[in-house]
Amino acid sequence: MNYVSTRNSGLNMSAAQAIVKGLAPDGGLMTPGVLPRLPSNAFSSMKNMNYQQRMVYVMGQFLSEFSAAELSRYAAAAYGGNKFSDPAVAPIHAVDDNTFCLELWHGPTCAFKDMALQMLPHLLSASLEKTLEKKTVCILTATSGDTGKAALEGFCDVDKTKIIVFYPKDGVSDIQELQMVTQEGGNVNVCSVIGNFDDAQTGVKKLFSDKELAETLAQRGYLLSSANSINWGRVLPQVVYYVSAYCDLLKEGRIAVGERVNVCVPTGNFGNILAAYYAKCMGVPIGKLICASNSNNVLTDFIETGVYDRNRKFYNTLSPSMDILVSSNLERMLFELSNHNDALVRDYMKRLNETGCYEVSESLKKALHTTFASGCCSDEQTTAAIAKMWSEHHYLIDPHTAVAFHVLEQYRGKTGDSTPCLVASTASPFKFCAAVLHALGVSDVKAGTDILDQLSELTGVEVPAPLAALKNKQRRFSGVSEKEHMIDQVLDMLK
Ligand SMILES: *Cc1c(COP(=O)(O)O)cnc(C)c1O
Repeated sequence: MNYVSTRNSGLNMSAAQAIVKGLAPDGGLMTPGVLPRLPSNAFSSMKNMNYQQRMVYVMGQFLSEFSAAELSRYAAAAYGGNKFSDPAVAPIHAVDDNTFCLELWHGPTCAFKDMALQMLPHLLSASLEKTLEKKTVCILTATSGDTGKAALEGFCDVDKTKIIVFYPKDGVSDIQELQMVTQEGGNVNVCSVIGNFDDAQTGVKKLFSDKELAETLAQRGYLLSSANSINWGRVLPQVVYYVSAYCDLLKEGRIAVGERVNVCVPTGNFGNILAAYYAKCMGVPIGKLICASNSNNVLTDFIETGVYDRNRKFYNTLSPSMDILVSSNLERMLFELSNHNDALVRDYMKRLNETGCYEVSESLKKALHTTFASGCCSDEQTTAAIAKMWSEHHYLIDPHTAVAFHVLEQYRGKTGDSTPCLVASTASPFKFCAAVLHALGVSDVKAGTDILDQLSELTGVEVPAPLAALKNKQRRFSGVSEKEHMIDQVLDMLK
């Protein structure tokens, strides 16, 4: 299968090349030239498969240069053994008769980033081989929390890869820092940067654009790359859980063959909900895609009005992984909804870059309204949604998931649409103990890892094993870097 740039559909490459490159040379995102359709017997074939087998089935439709045997190997390494605490990998929790929570946080870091970042390293390592690239790839990432740890776990001891994660000294929670500095593996490095997330992010961007550094590293046999969510190798594994969830709903008799379900996704960079859209295009009977935002509600306004405007106040919210004003993966959506009109996408992205704002055409607005619904949720509403879910259903959810549940309720109230809905649950509540405890009425929260037990004792819900294990882990990394000296860390690790 061919992949094309969203800014030039004449520019095409293979899947392996797209995964190695990450970004198209023209700044666009690499995207399938044609979206595959699932064969008509797909659901009956997949119904009795396990998650790993469904992954091979679905990813195989997009990755013609990868054999089923190869994909099976990666699926086993990524999701098999005891990597995920639930053998279903992405199990469904029925909240009521037509509301189903798709739990995407049973992986090693307890956040949905694991679903893709467990698979990406295998795809990347194999793609290097297929494109005859001899160098070892080194992933550089700046993180505000979830992504860094998930990338470390995913790349840990994967052949032909190394990874360095920079995090802001004062910008992550105690638990998040502990998760990173206790990371195991012979090919990993973690370093804090004095400053905030922007300082770390800017520092990493500088390293990527440093030509002299690239040359030095090339001589040493290394190639820098990023594990960013615009890489096709991160989007594709996410398509699988929507297909798989539909199979599970069928299998459990929750829905009839061919019955539609809506999907509600707490959205930041637009990767997760884009994957649901691709599943819909492949033939999964998905109705509305409900895009849920926090107070950074650029996407809510965009879907409603067709105007994307990032010139607005930025809020730090209780759902920090969605605190984003520019959702990169939206570009792929515009490309699809405009029937691959690359000139149009190029124009919108140019406007976004120059003015922070663009307005889409009337036909695109129509297409947006047909496919999507949207809504947003304040911190107060997030807190209330956590409390309500606990008191009414005895089900504990994290603040990101709470945003989705609030927006779903808003949508159902407004439209009267009672279609069964799948809600993407993107983090374990134990990753955001303080916010969850506050929502449950506790004002005096404990410090460090004690907060995990505090939430567990209050609710009777078990602490996920990877977080419980933090108490006994050795701190392996204590590096602190000035933002001007991050390059030394890189040169030191890649000798
Ligand atoms: C990354 C993340 C999101 C946002 O997902 P996108 O694919 O960027 O839209 C939502 N919730 C959590 C917990 C996340 O880590």
